[in-house]
Amino acid sequence: MKNDIVDLKCIDITNEGQGVCKKDGLVVFVKEMLPDEEGQIKIIKEKKNLAYGIIDNLKVKSKYRIMPKCPISSKCGGCDFGYVDYGYQLQLKKNILESTFKNMNLDLKIKDVIAADNPNNYRNKVQIPVNNHLFGFYRNYSNDIVEFDECNCQSELSNKIFNTLKKIILDLKIDDYFRHLIIKHAKGSNEVMIGLVVKDFNISGIEELVKEVTNRYREIKSIILNLKERDDNVILGEKEKTIFGNNYIVDYALGLKFRISLKSFYQINYEQMHKLYDLILDLAKIDKDIKVLDLYCGIGTISLYLAKYAKEVFGVEIVKEAIINAKANAEINNINNAYFYLDDANNDMNKYLKDVDVVVLDPPRKGLNKQLIDSLINSGIKKIVYVSCNPATLARDLNYFKDYYDISDINPVDMFPYTKHVECVTILKLKRKTIN
Ligand code: SAH
Repeated sequence: MKNDIVDLKCIDITNEGQGVCKKDGLVVFVKEMLPDEEGQIKIIKEKKNLAYGIIDNLKVKSKYRIMPKCPISSKCGGCDFGYVDYGYQLQLKKNILESTFKNMNLDLKIKDVIAADNPNNYRNKVQIPVNNHLFGFYRNYSNDIVEFDECNCQSELSNKIFNTLKKIILDLKIDDYFRHLIIKHAKGSNEVMIGLVVKDFNISGIEELVKEVTNRYREIKSIILNLKERDDNVILGEKEKTIFGNNYIVDYALGLKFRISLKSFYQINYEQMHKLYDLILDLAKIDKDIKVLDLYCGIGTISLYLAKYAKEVFGVEIVKEAIINAKANAEINNINNAYFYLDDANNDMNKYLKDVDVVVLDPPRKGLNKQLIDSLINSGIKKIVYVSCNPATLARDLNYFKDYYDISDINPVDMFPYTKHVECVTILKLKRKTIN
């Protein structure tokens, strides 16, 4: 069957954004094919009851298919929906959420996805791998680098700075020392941080690079060398050296100021972050009698936004630099009812849960561990706000909570236009008290 060309019609889309076609009991997943499209599909891989295909000749096109804004859209692993009309991307994300929750036996209403006003140039952080004289993004499921000049998802300034850095590094013939270039562009302040992930701290010519790039772009407020000696999939190493400006940049958001370090997490879509946090505030119904625990608090963005409305807020986070930022952020905003702790949410969290009314959870993609879910259920916390960037782990975790908590509608926010990813917020309200 491999290499055969078959006539197929697309009837659905997978969680990974691939078209789903069916023929004679066989399911074929087709890259970049939309529901209602028909065409000749070349089978490239076959397993027992399923196969993978690519479009050989598209005969019936979806009215939602567009010319990608980016010339490398279908090569680079960043955008899954580069060829899809923006309004329809939101519909597809809603469909993906509906099937994810249904497959996990959760009967929850999925609200419409909150759209971005401008889906282009939204990202405020870019990480660019450097290898073998190439600078680019990884192809999907591979370590091949696809080069680019301008990425339609990155800020325009980041694209320009990237091109300048690449040219300087190639001119100085020092690209062998580099593993990644990181550019963070704070949209509210227009400050820029450059992180240079290198194999060695001693690189001759690095002073010249700093001089040239900072002369050209006054927005740059920080350049950091990050030493990464080992070859593995982790991007950042432990040791850092600030070679220009501060070891942080500042952004203005939510009526507050935030310091952001190289190692700290910060929401990558500035405009949608505001919508996300307003949604959290609205759904959580915080008032001055309420004490909030913000688990996975990063640099304290949610904590400090809620602190204005709450009695007290406690934030817990595993990255040391993020907690240093969070504490400084409370101080520079004159907020004195927010407290931050360096801790692992997989440790015993009971000491933080003892005296709070609302818990905000915003875990990384892998979601919550079972021990934390049990502690939350046993502690009898009345209200939990679950913010998730991965519907699959959200659905898994909600299944543990559902006997003890009433679960609200799912409120999706499009933080990541042109990709298959979507952020969701849901509220859990206590039904009964303990596990037994
Ligand atoms: N709520 C913040 C950060 C969310 S991202 C914001 O909106 O900006 C998730 C955060 O969880 C990251 O800062 C990450 O460093 C942190 N994290 C990851 N694993 C953790 C763990 N086991 N315990 C505590 N924090 C963790």
